[in-house]
Amino acid sequence: MVYDPDNIFAKILRGEIPCDKVYEDDHVLAFNDINPLAPTHVLVVPKDAYISMNDFTQNASDTAISTLFRAVGQIARDLGLGDGGYRILANIGDDGGQEVPHLHIHIFGGRPLGPMLLR
Ligand code: AMP
Repeated sequence: MVYDPDNIFAKILRGEIPCDKVYEDDHVLAFNDINPLAPTHVLVVPKDAYISMNDFTQNASDTAISTLFRAVGQIARDLGLGDGGYRILANIGDDGGQEVPHLHIHIFGGRPLGPMLLR
């Protein structure tokens, strides 16, 4: 599978489409999900072009991987979720239900989130 540079998060990263930004550094952009499923629902996106966690964990540097996960934790703390708890989720590929083919980690929080998956 080849990275599609016209996916919606690539357009957001290029500034072609607006987003409701909550965090940015040299490597990561995070913004509120347009269709939130919890009181806090943020998407954390690496700025480099990776399709999914499958692509990222094969091809990204150790530094890029640690940078993304440190950012996720920092963003969750900045959003006030560190003490009460939260959930992170990355959908990968067809079985994972991934809609946007640029790696993103969902952060959900702000209420008890219930079971991990529907049975
Ligand atoms: P996934 O199924 O993991 O690929 O999730 C994609 C997420 O992107 C969904 O939760 C959408 O609501 C969200 N989304 C799609 N377009 C936008 C956008 N322009 N700004 C913010 N979130 C978006």
